[in-house]
Amino acid sequence: MTGLVIVGHGTRSAAGVEQFAALVERVRGRGDIGDVEGGFIELSRPPLTDAVGALVARGHRALVALPLVLTGAGHGKGDIPAAMAREQQRHPGLSYRYGRPLGPHPLLHEALEQRIDAALAGADRAGTEPAGADQAGTWVALIGRGSTDPDANAEVAKVARLLWEGRGYAGVEPGFISLASPSVPAVLERLRRLGARRIVVAPYFLFAGVLPDRIVAQSAEFAAAHPDLDVRVAEVIGDCDALADLVLERYAEALGGDIRMNCDTCAYRVLMPGFADKVGRPQRPHDHPDDPVGHHHHHGHDHHDHGHDHGSVAVVGGGPGPDDLITVRGKALLDAADVVVVDRLAPQGLLAGLRPDVLVVDAAKVPRGPSMAQEAINEALVSHARAGRRVVRLKGGDPYVFGRGHEEVQACAAAGVPVTVVPGVSSALAAPALAGVPVTHRGVAHDVTVVSGHLPPGHPDSLVDWAALARARGTVVLLMAVDTIGKIASVLIEHGRAPETPVLAVQDAGLPDQRSVPARLDEIGAVAAREGVGPPAVFVLGPVVALTTTGPTA
Ligand code: SAH
Repeated sequence: MTGLVIVGHGTRSAAGVEQFAALVERVRGRGDIGDVEGGFIELSRPPLTDAVGALVARGHRALVALPLVLTGAGHGKGDIPAAMAREQQRHPGLSYRYGRPLGPHPLLHEALEQRIDAALAGADRAGTEPAGADQAGTWVALIGRGSTDPDANAEVAKVARLLWEGRGYAGVEPGFISLASPSVPAVLERLRRLGARRIVVAPYFLFAGVLPDRIVAQSAEFAAAHPDLDVRVAEVIGDCDALADLVLERYAEALGGDIRMNCDTCAYRVLMPGFADKVGRPQRPHDHPDDPVGHHHHHGHDHHDHGHDHGSVAVVGGGPGPDDLITVRGKALLDAADVVVVDRLAPQGLLAGLRPDVLVVDAAKVPRGPSMAQEAINEALVSHARAGRRVVRLKGGDPYVFGRGHEEVQACAAAGVPVTVVPGVSSALAAPALAGVPVTHRGVAHDVTVVSGHLPPGHPDSLVDWAALARARGTVVLLMAVDTIGKIASVLIEHGRAPETPVLAVQDAGLPDQRSVPARLDEIGAVAAREGVGPPAVFVLGPVVALTTTGPTA
């Protein structure tokens, strides 16, 4: 089983180190995980290098490294990966999967609620109301570490909101103990002015430390200056089962390989007002006092260029329409996508299964005039990939069967964007099959030709040799032929196909409204019009149609 190294930043607080060690022990004690070690990148013992060294000594060559951080700020984004890179230099061949920051997560919100409840249930400092009074009269100041990374601060604001949702507190306001505003006194003053009488200050911290201590001190100072207010400070989250559960969840997630940072609003990639200096800045490891290599080791990795790391396009054939006729490979890419650019005929049901943060672009609605549509789609694919996103271009059927898939592949290749194609089940073969028609059959048809009916016979731009198709004996499958079928049928008959050749129109193949309309070749134009056959539909014609198993109108 893949070893887990839990990576902490380190603290001067002995209590904090103890809580970290207790959590590592708790995780280790769970039956559902193999080998676990914990280490710090600075200040505290054991250093990360000892933890990794112990795992390597026990034979591990692949690890999960889980940053024990609540938000994705500098420690999680830069310092810990940099420290892990140093370990990889020490142990050639060592690989690791990097886990996500812990929050926001419902387990954390529940733990915070319990800490707040415990603070409410405790002695009523002001002596004016019964202990454990209703949440409606309670305001919460959720205090995060604070960071120079605006995205990390935004995460604390998000947690404040999620903590408030549905829990009935009068309000939950975010604040910060360092580097960001509002400060603890500022947020407490804000709550006072909003009319708060009882405030619980909830540190959004995993473990005890210098900063949580400072939250306690500043809250006490504010309370002393406002004796009419009931101000209480909740405990930090601390070593608990919920945290161990979350660590195991992040471990499993890292093993599953579907890990993403919140790249869209990352100051290291995107220019944010006031943070221009951060864009593209490389990350260097902190030096742990116990780490013998320390700063002598220079390395030039840029651990935060994920903007260039994984931008790519996969042109995926989604099959004829139902959710489950996409390939396994196509589905896996779809599940890992950040952006999905989707066609009208692609399986729409698959969109419902995407994570809520996935950007879905409807290719039919890409702005620009119709003649420019393909160019605009190509541009969208290229620009999302260049922004570091995993883009899936989800198409109906197979991307290369009248899907303009290759134009998109060419555009990506020309722009230097990595692009792959995942074949799909084409409606050309699937629609007849779903309607009970074998497109080939021993002794009946040894050839099947897939033809676009988009341009009618005689059209100057047509590249189809209709006369040759008429002379051939086998199966013809016509796509995009709803408007042209009558004309095509006459030309085929004119050049030698028997007028009684059976034809089957198959509409909405694989979808709940699938239907088949049979006719002779000389009547199909009139019958399709009379029956109102509409797109998407294929027409399959030739002797195989007489073999239809499910009955032509089934
Ligand atoms: N790349 C697609 C074809 C794109 S052209 C593929 O391989 O299937 C669009 C044509 O495909 C439609 O006009 C229709 O002829 C056919 N088509 C697509 N989905 C279909 C479906 N579910 N049932 C019947 N025909 C379909």
